[in-house]
Amino acid sequence: MRVLIIEDEKRLANTLADMIEDMGYNATVRYDGIDGRDEAMTGIYDAIVLDVMLPGMNGFEVLRTIRANQIETPVLMLTARSDLADRIEGLDSGADYYLTKPFENLEFRACLRAVIRRQGSIIPDTKTYDDLSLSLTDGRLSCGSRSLLLSAKEKEIMSLLILNAQTAISKETILTKVWGYDSEAGDNNVEAYISFLRKKLTLLGSRVQINAQRRVGYRLEVGNS
Ligand code: CA
Repeated sequence: MRVLIIEDEKRLANTLADMIEDMGYNATVRYDGIDGRDEAMTGIYDAIVLDVMLPGMNGFEVLRTIRANQIETPVLMLTARSDLADRIEGLDSGADYYLTKPFENLEFRACLRAVIRRQGSIIPDTKTYDDLSLSLTDGRLSCGSRSLLLSAKEKEIMSLLILNAQTAISKETILTKVWGYDSEAGDNNVEAYISFLRKKLTLLGSRVQINAQRRVGYRLEVGNS
């Protein structure tokens, strides 16, 4: 489970990240609306904790933008304002839950659990590219009548490759998104997983190939076979 926190109050953001990690999930933090929106648009998160008052772009705009782009990740909105009008605007923009600051840790945990429980039914769970389809629920990668299961990291990398099929994705981006900022993993880990994925594409008989572009990164391409 990956949770994105978009909150400019650094202390609060870090406290929430610790709490989320204690719950056994992976937390990523962004401190302004624009970075947060870009991160949310990757579609790799299971839940988003979104503040309303943010530098760059406010939480309502972030939410409307991602919903307009078919990102259905469940959102828990945080705000210092408890006005009814704000709550309604939040819910109208596509928020699933609304929590008013200050809140108790227990309240936050309960809300986040509820948000995450909802995601199974609303996240579109299949991504496709040419002759491939990837189920995000169980990591099944299929091509025609053949299919096989990907490991958790293979699934995340494949999902990033499909999402970024128009542009190459760098090793650094893959490392950050799949292993996290403070991981010890390096380029060789990414290379190893790319090679596992290439073998699986071959086993499936897919036309899709993972091409490496020097100093740029990886992208999916349709080959001839
Ligand atoms: Ca704020």
